[in-house]
Amino acid sequence: MKNKRVLISGAGISGLTTAYWLKQYGFEPTVVERHPVLRTGGYKIDIRGAAIEVIKKMGAYPVVLEGITEIQGATIIDSSGKPATELTADLCGGRVEGDIEIMRGDLCEILFKHIGEIDSLFGDYITQITQKEEGVYVEFAQNEPRMFDLVIGADGLHSAVRKLVFGEESYFLKELGMYIAVYRVPNFLNLDRREIEYFEAQKFVNVYSSRGDVDATVGFAFASEPLQFDPRNTAQQQKLLEEAFTNVGWEIPRFLAAMKGVPDFYFDSAAQIRMPHWWEGRVALVGDAGYAPSPLSGQGTSVAIVGGYVLAGELAKAEGDPTLAFTEYEKELRRFVKKNQELVKMNVALMAEKDTWIAWLHRQLMELLPGSWLELLKKWGTKRIHEAANDLELKNYP
Ligand SMILES: Cc1cc2nc3c(=O)[nH]c(=O)nc-3n(C[C@H](O)[C@H](O)[C@H](O)COP(=O)(O)OP(=O)(O)OC[C@H]3O[C@@H](n4cnc5c(N)ncnc54)[C@H](O)[C@@H]3O)c2cc1C
Repeated sequence: MKNKRVLISGAGISGLTTAYWLKQYGFEPTVVERHPVLRTGGYKIDIRGAAIEVIKKMGAYPVVLEGITEIQGATIIDSSGKPATELTADLCGGRVEGDIEIMRGDLCEILFKHIGEIDSLFGDYITQITQKEEGVYVEFAQNEPRMFDLVIGADGLHSAVRKLVFGEESYFLKELGMYIAVYRVPNFLNLDRREIEYFEAQKFVNVYSSRGDVDATVGFAFASEPLQFDPRNTAQQQKLLEEAFTNVGWEIPRFLAAMKGVPDFYFDSAAQIRMPHWWEGRVALVGDAGYAPSPLSGQGTSVAIVGGYVLAGELAKAEGDPTLAFTEYEKELRRFVKKNQELVKMNVALMAEKDTWIAWLHRQLMELLPGSWLELLKKWGTKRIHEAANDLELKNYP
């Protein structure tokens, strides 16, 4: 096997999955993660379809099953603050039997443990990538420069590897006009493995407590004209969230009041990454860095898991030859990624700021029959997401 020394930038879902498989195939992965420790914040996420198969192939399925949220059901609240309907947890989350809901942080910890020993550089990041005939010369903010054979960018929506090798984020980031925020709040609604979802035109809020949780997690989504914000400026992001939800009823003022000083505040554009190619020379992108489908698709984590599996598998099959492996990786995954990215269309159309007829109809139905309308939408969404999540037959790699 040639080209064994692989640097992976980012210890998120895609980076950890790629590292696991590369190690299995006899490569020597090193992970560099900007955060000083494994980033375990975030939302509950879903694993569906082909991604479940990957987790099974990894032998991690029983541990992942032990980590599920165990959320039992959901209450839907309409814009007047009254319960409109009750849903099963699976229907609420767009899942069918066999799909899994787990906290993002729990999944990260499971994957990291599952890898076993691995060379890792926490609290550091790549500052320069120079591709040479014999390998890739990588410079870091903290550590000494090192030569690697290959570099994988698994560093999320705002990937530094993508910027260094492929160009500015603005070339590839497709705004969908939606923003999301997530953080932990005291469980003042006394939720016990239950979820509440609040809907209003162009706004959505949910709150839940998962298995063994003393606190609750609150998530916001809202439509907006493009917002300018610094990804590292939490105070600025919190101000934007406050402005978006001023005068919104139900329990929202309490959630906003609990936001100051939370350690795990997450805010971002619910954007997609669309690129003509996911690799150049000895460098490839995986997960959100190369093809984020957006949280609105519900498939960000599953696509990242499948991406890591296929990328590592193709490298093993090509015995480390990057041109062969990355070409096959892209060929294998393109259709699956496209199909999963297309899932956002309905959510974007319904929540749109612009007054399209679909958005208008959605608002009328939300006023007249919120419960039945949302149930119908959830059923339709679950069917589409199930199809997209299964739209890839995984190869068995050597
Ligand atoms: C803390 C956190 C919370 C999240 N919460 C939500 C959520 O609530 N809802 C939702 O839909 N999606 C959330 N996401 C995104 C979701 O996890 C991804 O869409 C999906 O899992 C795809 O995973 P990924 O590994 O490709 O990217 P990510 O999960 O984004 O992982 C990228 C990793 O790279 C690291 N990183 C970033 N820049 C650098 C750099 N320059 N050098 C080295 N490492 C770097 C990050 O710290 C992170 O560990 C969150 C991501 C993070 C990092």
